[in-house]
Amino acid sequence: MEQKYIFITGGVVSSLGKGIVTSSLGALLRARGIRVTAVKIDPYINVDAGTMRPYEHGEVFVTADGAETDLDIGTYERFLNSDLSRAHNITTGQVYQAVISKERRGEYLAQTVQVIPHVTDEIQARIDQASIDSRGQHAEVVLVEVGGTVGDIESLPFLEAIRQMRFAKGFGNTLYLHVTLLPFLSTSQELKTKPTQHSVATLRSVGIQPDAIVLRSERPAPEDIRDKLALFTNVEPSGVFSSYNSEHIYAVPEMLEQQGLGRFVEKRLGLEKVTPELGGWQRAVHTLRHPNSEVSIGIIGKYVAMPDAYLSLTEALVHAGIANKAQVNLRWVNAEELIEDSLAQLSELDGILVPGGFGVRGIEGKVQAAKVAREQHIPFLGICLGMQVAVIDYARHVAGLAGANSTEFDAYTPHPVIDLMPEQLELADMGGTMRLGNWPMKLKQGTRLHELYTPGSDDTALERHRHRYEVNPKYVQQLEQAGLTISGTTPGMKGRGVGLVEAIELADHPFFVGVQSHPEFGSRLARPSPPFKGFIAAALSHQAINLTLPPLTLNTQDVS
Ligand code: GLN
Repeated sequence: MEQKYIFITGGVVSSLGKGIVTSSLGALLRARGIRVTAVKIDPYINVDAGTMRPYEHGEVFVTADGAETDLDIGTYERFLNSDLSRAHNITTGQVYQAVISKERRGEYLAQTVQVIPHVTDEIQARIDQASIDSRGQHAEVVLVEVGGTVGDIESLPFLEAIRQMRFAKGFGNTLYLHVTLLPFLSTSQELKTKPTQHSVATLRSVGIQPDAIVLRSERPAPEDIRDKLALFTNVEPSGVFSSYNSEHIYAVPEMLEQQGLGRFVEKRLGLEKVTPELGGWQRAVHTLRHPNSEVSIGIIGKYVAMPDAYLSLTEALVHAGIANKAQVNLRWVNAEELIEDSLAQLSELDGILVPGGFGVRGIEGKVQAAKVAREQHIPFLGICLGMQVAVIDYARHVAGLAGANSTEFDAYTPHPVIDLMPEQLELADMGGTMRLGNWPMKLKQGTRLHELYTPGSDDTALERHRHRYEVNPKYVQQLEQAGLTISGTTPGMKGRGVGLVEAIELADHPFFVGVQSHPEFGSRLARPSPPFKGFIAAALSHQAINLTLPPLTLNTQDVS
């Protein structure tokens, strides 16, 4: 079978949820047994998302092979239930870097190097490269999402490249899908089609006539609106779909399937007609709509006003909630505001999670949160930086190492329990100082983490990493003697990192686990992350115990 391509563009405004539409379409094809993959094009000049501010751009997603990518790659992985690689996030920066390097090496044989054909050829070559997986297998359908909005100057070379691909791959093997906004004007109580008409006109001006349109709106688009748009945009009526606001993103694949998107794509690309297997999605959405219980989890972070900065984390909590038939209610706690007075609010939580992060801001609040969780026996999960602050608390308040800290926050700490390792500095020679991507962790038998992962006979589990600092091996013995369990260590990779601390836990606590990795990146609906699943189960038990206790009598002053 010839490879098929679906190109997804966006119109009118950004943040439409194009990534969800792309991922949902991928899920519908996947549910038909089709080998599908997805590529995200980001027209910014950054080479990758690693250097971008999560507050503005959302989380930096890390692939198994260690690329720092756009968060849409995470959504693709979760909806397609497959691991993607660095090849799946193409940026202007990468394309130009490659073209300029080739030019310097003389590979263009003294030609004038231009956007067309050199840059557009490079883009096409990269899309083709991403369509082959690590085992050399070609995807049957490749979804290519062009970031940004049609009409942006910076996306023009990418639109030109995908326009050319219709000629390279053939009409029957390519489909253009345009996702636009259908705004609702409350004053006139109307859904307005004009922005979509203009957006399609702009797309046509660069030579692309969409085959299908997905209208993003607050409420479902009625048939007359869809027919009107079909007429104005030259798209057949059966190719206009409505993606309206849904309480749960995992309900979107079925919403689009019910409107015939899957069948439309099958017909248009000449794929076999198949009834999709959507049982897994339906069961997940059913649990989300009818949970048996609720838990409240506090996330002690820095970017609490921008939940997208913690997207994989919140999705991992949703997956773990579904696995425990519970609704997970998130309570965002700004670590910088967590001072003595406000620490009391943590006692009301069923679980405390300290996520990953960089920089000193809010650090003391996070250390305090770990201390409260430890002392009050509240289930605790520390991810990456979250594990590091748990170690700092333990060193300071249990192991008697006053002033213990990470050298990331205090270069002159008397006890650098978290520190840079010489090998991290070696990595600097290779252009980066971070431990990135999949690294194995060897789990200690008899620990909670070992039980949660149930690893094979080698006792190892693979998780993705993104960090520079490590628990300082010089302090490990002292911490262990003070009662900290080291439940995971690195068996090493390529001769590096042998014996570094990967995970910690406390034995005399209902659930106190810290991991140096980011298990949230690998969590899926069908495969919830083991530490997250265990954490939510513990939070449910904690809640059950709390309910049996008499209510707290608050020590308030009588002011009457
Ligand atoms: N800042 C810490 C480090 O670099 C933790 C990083 C993280 O949480 N991703 O080690």
